[in-house]
Amino acid sequence: MALIVQKYGGTSVGSPERIKNVARRIAHWRARGDQVVVVVSAMAGETNRLIALAKEVQANPDPRELDVVLSTGEQVTIALLSMALAEQGVPARSYTGAQVRILTDSAHTRARILAIDEQNLRRDLDAGSVVVVAGFQGVDEAGNITTLGRGGSDTTGVALAAALKAQECQIYTDVDGVYTADPRIVPEARRLKTVTFEEMLELASLGSKVLQIRSVEFAGKYRVRLRVLSSFEDEGEGTLITFEEDENMEQPVIAGIASNRDEAKITILGVPDRPGIAYQILGPIGDANIDVDMIVQNVGHDGLTDFSFTVNRNDYAKALEILEPVRVHIKARDILSGDKIAKVSMVGVGMRSHAGIASTAFRALAEEGINIQMISTSEIKVSVVIDEKYTELAVRVLHKVFNLDQAPA
Ligand code: ASP
Ligand code: MG
Repeated sequence: MALIVQKYGGTSVGSPERIKNVARRIAHWRARGDQVVVVVSAMAGETNRLIALAKEVQANPDPRELDVVLSTGEQVTIALLSMALAEQGVPARSYTGAQVRILTDSAHTRARILAIDEQNLRRDLDAGSVVVVAGFQGVDEAGNITTLGRGGSDTTGVALAAALKAQECQIYTDVDGVYTADPRIVPEARRLKTVTFEEMLELASLGSKVLQIRSVEFAGKYRVRLRVLSSFEDEGEGTLITFEEDENMEQPVIAGIASNRDEAKITILGVPDRPGIAYQILGPIGDANIDVDMIVQNVGHDGLTDFSFTVNRNDYAKALEILEPVRVHIKARDILSGDKIAKVSMVGVGMRSHAGIASTAFRALAEEGINIQMISTSEIKVSVVIDEKYTELAVRVLHKVFNLDQAPA
């Protein structure tokens, strides 16, 4: 008998019909003799609706109260799914995050899970029930309801799988796995049978929306066997997230291409080239809790240099506001900036043992006349910043030049 955690996303529980359908799937797993813990999201669109509702009442909603509002979305689906299971003859019990006691820190709207008390769940499972847990929510030490950030139900699923030492955590969603690129951009994109944990981590942070990045981090830390599957197909093995060292086969050089338009670029021109300048620029940015992604500094000329970096678009205006007095203070010439950029990235653990990936990519982009504004690389990734209007073209060109439409031999 295996213990499995299944997480169903908002579209999968988006209507009473779909909830009944999920119940049928769960009944099927249980009939195989497995113990099943189910984590659900709010019904599709519900979290957005609740945020909008809160903002109608308070333009800048109080985070504690916003979490109380947001947590209701998942509270509805756990009970409806438990009812649907009962209708299928499957005993089931619903739990909010606080009822389980998914203990989090107190960072409302982006809380982190600290500990999970799995005793109640175990007792129900041993008594033969399916346990249905609300995703995306927890409770802090003082008893306040917290939420885990958008997409946080994935993290609830993985965290429960870790706490219960489940055999597998299955994330059921509206796509049937992780693809070599977004199939809406590249119709030839292929589903990956496996992707390594490190690749998934990069893909999630670079714009692939399949899994919340924290859930991947959790899976890595606690070595949870994680699989992404479609909740609309009855067959299919989805994509398994593997641990590289467990695999003997050779990895493909590139697993996938990701893109995002979440960032904005800021360049400070004519910065004095002396120790401490990077800190003087980025210190105040960090103090304002603004995350910096890429950073590029040129070789100095005549004691001056240019300094560029990217921030999330949501932080763009604030970053510019902070930087103007900094510019004056350090006597830099000017600030150039723009938010019409995209970041396109190639990810693959195989890059470690293959040279020339970056140059192949740069040639392919050049042949299409796409100018590269910034580059950053790591052991398993090459990212370029380009004009936003070339995003799709760049993704297609890179997918093609690395033959990602063909299954590796
Ligand atoms: N309902 C939450 C959201 O829409 C959490 C989730 O679905 O994972 O972000
Ligand atoms: Mg999701």
